[in-house]
Amino acid sequence: MQGLMMETPLLITSLIKHAAANHGDTEIVSRSVEGPIHRYTYADSYVRIQKLANALAGLGVGEEDRIATLAWNGYRHFELYYAVSGMGAVCHTINPRLPADQIAYIVNHAEDQYIFTDLTFVPLIEAVAAHIGRVKGVVVMTDAAHMPETKLANVLCYEDLIADAAGSFDWPDLDENAAASMCYTSGTTGNPKGALYSHRSTVLHALGTAVPDVFNYSADTVSLPVVPMFHVNAWGIPYCAPMTGAKLVFPGPKYDGASIYELMDGERVTTAAGVPTVWMVLLDYLRTSGNKLKYLKRTSIGGAAVPLSMIKEFEETHGVTVHHAWGMTEMSPVGTSGHLKAWMEELPAEQRYALKVKQGRAIYGVEMKIVGADGKELPHDGTAFGELQVRGPWIARSYYRDEAGTAAAFTEDGWLRTGDVSTIDPQGFMQIVDRTKDLIKSGGEWISSIDLENIAVGCPGVAEAGAIALPHPKWGERPLLVVVPADGDKPTRDDVLGYLKGKVVDYWLPDDVVFVEELPHTATGKIFKSKLREAFKDYKLPTA
Ligand code: AMP
Repeated sequence: MQGLMMETPLLITSLIKHAAANHGDTEIVSRSVEGPIHRYTYADSYVRIQKLANALAGLGVGEEDRIATLAWNGYRHFELYYAVSGMGAVCHTINPRLPADQIAYIVNHAEDQYIFTDLTFVPLIEAVAAHIGRVKGVVVMTDAAHMPETKLANVLCYEDLIADAAGSFDWPDLDENAAASMCYTSGTTGNPKGALYSHRSTVLHALGTAVPDVFNYSADTVSLPVVPMFHVNAWGIPYCAPMTGAKLVFPGPKYDGASIYELMDGERVTTAAGVPTVWMVLLDYLRTSGNKLKYLKRTSIGGAAVPLSMIKEFEETHGVTVHHAWGMTEMSPVGTSGHLKAWMEELPAEQRYALKVKQGRAIYGVEMKIVGADGKELPHDGTAFGELQVRGPWIARSYYRDEAGTAAAFTEDGWLRTGDVSTIDPQGFMQIVDRTKDLIKSGGEWISSIDLENIAVGCPGVAEAGAIALPHPKWGERPLLVVVPADGDKPTRDDVLGYLKGKVVDYWLPDDVVFVEELPHTATGKIFKSKLREAFKDYKLPTA
């Protein structure tokens, strides 16, 4: 027997329609790229979203067309999230921190029709323009007065584009499983891989993360997503906030401590989300300025492991509850959150902190298991560790047009292999102990160790090179390059770094280079990364 309930499709437009109808006067505040603070309401935003949808239709954008964004967290980016997905096209957020060749690859692989860019990233598009010839035009997200001089062809001004468009749009009746947005993640090997989110997965993720144990959003929340909208959808906050009527505060291009504090204080932000590196900068600023976080009640921190000292400083100095969260681009992205159970709140401080420093419990909608090398599931005893696998309605089931990547990352019985190695304790708290994917995460952004190695072996005098992540107090992880010199050669640290400079983006440059006679290898001849990490686990980077 079938249930007798309405089959209302879960569409992204429903979130903003709800906000406009029920929280129309709630504000969205943005630090604009042009400088001033911009403020308007959900009701104002919804009108501009419909204008934008009309303007896009006028450009010939139709269902399934991919529209790229290169933009900070701000109100125009928010409008794109809703206008593009709502009209049935696919909002493709691009991470501007990626190397230029990867950005070009991503634009071409996604077959983006238009790129919407903040002023900041116009030079970046100019640099790759010759390699993205199929893009029909670039829309600069500003007004006529701020339009830049550029050599780019077919450049449009965002405010001019929407100025005369009608403020109501007839949204199509989409299938809830239709593609709504996409984001590429740096692959372990080879090219970036696209996660293609659906309307349904996005709405379910918003519902799943709004709950008290995760973001705890409601109509009296003032939310500051410092996590970028260009990477992992700002943890879905641009969807979760309108769903609950939370006020949104967008930091725009300014991530320094003083600017973030100014917004937190001025807008009375109650909850904020960020990666550890950004919060490190904020805490530094608070320490030196003597300012206190008067309104902030909680923060979700993730994207990289949160240091214990950071949890303590937020909680003890500022009275801000920390939720350690973990997730992935492929997971929309949230998978876990470290909210304590009632009895855990009674534990002595050190035991509570020992739980909080773990990556958190699976949230409803996410199933987790750990699997040993033999493919068998391991016990959740807090000791056994294996590869973490996940599944659920907001987790990718394959990559966009990438059979090899899909075959490597997804199991035949429908689980995503996360590439993280972890334990799970009897209370469900997961803790990452290692990574099988060969990537280094610095300040929340990936560095490919394989790319670093491949380029380093081109340096005269280098026979073989292995790049590994070492802990770093500010960036979380930074690369160390371990080099085997060619017979009879004696390259120096400066030779190797000088060779790499200009061939990789600056933040990829290793923090140190050390020389060894040989590297450990696996049976198949690959560099044995876990052994190499073990050998250098006590090595202290000069920058740390
Ligand atoms: P991305 O898809 O770029 O967001 O990267 C996802 C990966 O970041 C995960 O698979 C982890 O390796 C890492 N990561 C995310 N959150 C955490 C965390 N809280 N602690 C440690 N690593 C994390």
